[in-house]
Amino acid sequence: MRTLPPGSTIGILGGGQLGRMLSVAAAQLGYRCHVYAPNANSVAAEVAAEFTCAQDDDVAALTRFAESCDVVTFEFENVPVGPLHEIRDCAPLHPPIAALDIAQNRIAEKVFARDHGGTTAPFAEVSDRATLDIAIAEVGTPAILKTIRMGYDGKGQSRIRRGDDLEDHWQAVAGKPCVAEGFVTFSHEFSVILVRGQDGEVRFWNTPHNVHEDGILAISTTPAPDAILAQQDAARALAARMAEAMDYVGVLTCEFFATEAGPVFNEMAPRVHNSGHWTIEGAVTSQFENHIRAICGLPLGDTGLAAKRVEMHNLIGPQADEWQALLADGANHLHLYGKGETRPGRKMGHVTKTYF
Ligand code: AMP
Repeated sequence: MRTLPPGSTIGILGGGQLGRMLSVAAAQLGYRCHVYAPNANSVAAEVAAEFTCAQDDDVAALTRFAESCDVVTFEFENVPVGPLHEIRDCAPLHPPIAALDIAQNRIAEKVFARDHGGTTAPFAEVSDRATLDIAIAEVGTPAILKTIRMGYDGKGQSRIRRGDDLEDHWQAVAGKPCVAEGFVTFSHEFSVILVRGQDGEVRFWNTPHNVHEDGILAISTTPAPDAILAQQDAARALAARMAEAMDYVGVLTCEFFATEAGPVFNEMAPRVHNSGHWTIEGAVTSQFENHIRAICGLPLGDTGLAAKRVEMHNLIGPQADEWQALLADGANHLHLYGKGETRPGRKMGHVTKTYF
């Protein structure tokens, strides 16, 4: 285990709210963060010691950045992998590149989960208009068409109902390579959030019950209902096997559907995750702090609950304008991400409610 002393510099690829919250957690432990992001108005850079504003494939800029860091991590899983191979010798990278390779490709991700004993939705690859017909015949309707790469928060997705004209859906995904997924009938959605240390120790946070609206996470609540808890062990075991197979270091999140036949794996995020934001006030050690601990080779912190019940509500678009009313409720912990422009569907902040 390579322990980085306080005062060391942590490089963060990506400049959004996850990088912002990682940077705050790192600062609390005495580390400096250097954010690397392509947009000048990065909300992570605002709270970091250093900022490089450059494109993700600018190898010269990436090399200078990595040489100034003692360890590099990422808060965004669509970082191009090719340039990361080039900076490998400059500083250790956690989580590993293998995790990005898998998470950036919805098909590779499902195959990986299946290879480790998981169940996924039925799926078929769609590489062109002709294979869309074949894929839908195979997985049936209703179905969801998702771009294989670069999809998040319901973007790059089209929901297919029985009898729909498939041409419309092909247009909706702009003719990009896709995966067609059969629609899973589920009672609940939940996520397994774990942290794995450099010595292979794995700790899990309480399982949150996640409610999505329009493909975007709206609410996470823990403790989760019994229907989820009954499936927790199987889901955790799968996530831990996947983490071990990747020799993973840091926080890993796997999203599941709770179905009559047990947990169905949906996708993984090789990073801190929105469904773990409640851990800032609701757990003894937050996902952000434990990610920093893991990548810096420190002992992992206690992931136990710090309240009887915790609820996290995302503030999407204009919901964040209610900040004054939200502050008036003593159970609320308000987080605003400092994003200048409110746009519909944009994650502007979140509120965590702790009940004792
Ligand atoms: P994703 O981007 O894959 O996380 O999808 C966003 C949300 O769409 C999920 O959290 C589910 O609510 C829903 N969803 C995605 N895939 C499926 C599926 N195969 N069956 C049913 N619902 C799905």
